[in-house]
Amino acid sequence: MADFRNLIGGELVAATRTIDSVNPATGEVWARVPAGGAAEAQAAVTTATQAFPSWSGRPAAARARVLRKVSEVFGRHAEELARLETRDNGRILRDTLKRDLPGMAYLWQLAAGQCLDAVKGDTVILGPDTLGLTRREPYGVVVCIIPWNSPISTFSAKAAYALAAGNTVIVKPAEQAAASVLRLGELLADVFPPGVLNIVSGLGEDVGDALVRHRGVGKVSLTGSTATGQAITRASADSLKPLTFELGGKSPNIVFPDADLDAAAKGVTVDSVYTGNAGQVCVAGSRILVHHSIWDEMLGRIQHICADLVLDDPLDLRTTMGPIVSAGQYERVTSYLELAAKEGAELVFGGRTGADVVPGLPGGYWVEPTLYTTTDNSLRVCQEEVFGPVAVAIPFGSDEEALAIANDSPYGLAAGVWTRDLGRAHRFVRDLRSGTVWVNTFRQMPPGLPFGGVKDSGYGHDAVLEFTREKAAIIQI
Ligand code: NAD
Repeated sequence: MADFRNLIGGELVAATRTIDSVNPATGEVWARVPAGGAAEAQAAVTTATQAFPSWSGRPAAARARVLRKVSEVFGRHAEELARLETRDNGRILRDTLKRDLPGMAYLWQLAAGQCLDAVKGDTVILGPDTLGLTRREPYGVVVCIIPWNSPISTFSAKAAYALAAGNTVIVKPAEQAAASVLRLGELLADVFPPGVLNIVSGLGEDVGDALVRHRGVGKVSLTGSTATGQAITRASADSLKPLTFELGGKSPNIVFPDADLDAAAKGVTVDSVYTGNAGQVCVAGSRILVHHSIWDEMLGRIQHICADLVLDDPLDLRTTMGPIVSAGQYERVTSYLELAAKEGAELVFGGRTGADVVPGLPGGYWVEPTLYTTTDNSLRVCQEEVFGPVAVAIPFGSDEEALAIANDSPYGLAAGVWTRDLGRAHRFVRDLRSGTVWVNTFRQMPPGLPFGGVKDSGYGHDAVLEFTREKAAIIQI
């Protein structure tokens, strides 16, 4: 049984209480992670507050040198970290090893290069004897709360930029899958000065809530569900904290008859809602909108691709789709399968769950890739986030109808458009109400571009300027 510790003030601190971490492919407990509470939150805020003046006072080049060392750690420990994360949350090794980890080494390099940009300001000549200046300053102690589906990537997307801007950071990983981030804490304990980076594991309503309410915290950045975003807004109201929220989604992926249908079929299945994390992806294209003239052809292609998916041990590089992360999430996904049937959505393929899906791993949380069709976008299975390998295909007849269906959602995280018509592509980029629009591609999230949502999908994005605030100075010469 593996045991993990928190990182607080440069020390690896053993837990007094623990949470079991389950391997979702087998259902077996394989590790214990700390169940921190108010005491751990207080200790982390105290040490991060003490470390702030020295870290933020370092020249940008000196901070950049430290961030480059993190990139080197990712390079040296890529395989170990990828395997750990795959074991902990079931995200397939093909993704953690080949996609996430190389991307993280690059992201920390990129953040290192932004240490100077983070604190740049403007000069405004207000009059012959009056000078205006702006300064960008870090918030102080920043709390980064992350979900279980891509812990290392989400950790990096927040912590790298917050640290580059001169903040000190407390990361709160998700209770379902904290192991890879806690192992990262062990690897980074000597890289940062004590207190600059802290990692505190525990339940959201416990240590997470204590951190959010703490008056010593300058900003909170959450990636998680809309309900958690709302809870954090309420909990932080008294201390009026700036918040960044990257929340859920119900992304439309729209296929027009003039598209490259080979690319589109791949883009609405393997790159979108079924593979990798078995649809447990915030941007999953879980509503597939298909022009009625290519309806039968596209559904046939989607079914054909899904029939070839390999559901098996996520640590095997041949596996293309893994399990659902936890018993709780598994129940949620299966409840939506029952609901879809009750609501009258028509099952095209899939729908099986449990021990029969992967006979070699009967204890795992398995759900088959599943597709429904409906013409009614108001069904709950079309409006609510399932967060599993479950999509609904909806037919449309015109551009206007496709746009109306796509925007008819409480969410607005991402959208995909498949067309060769440049004018149509630009109109949809303009008119879709979402934080990201992909044209003839899906799920590319390169560091360097903003990533965030609108409506119930949140606001703000994790980039270096989001971790600074502006101050103005007026100087009479
Ligand atoms: P969740 O909101 O339950 O948990 C996310 C994190 O918030 C966890 O660390 C959890 O412990 C913490 N938390 C929960 N309640 C809290 C509270 N009251 N105070 C402080 N912290 C609290 O979400 P989840 O089930 O872990 O992840 C799935 C959700 O995350 C989905 O809705 C998904 O769309 C979303 N997500 C969004 C993105 C994105 O970038 N937009 C990426 C991945 C996941």
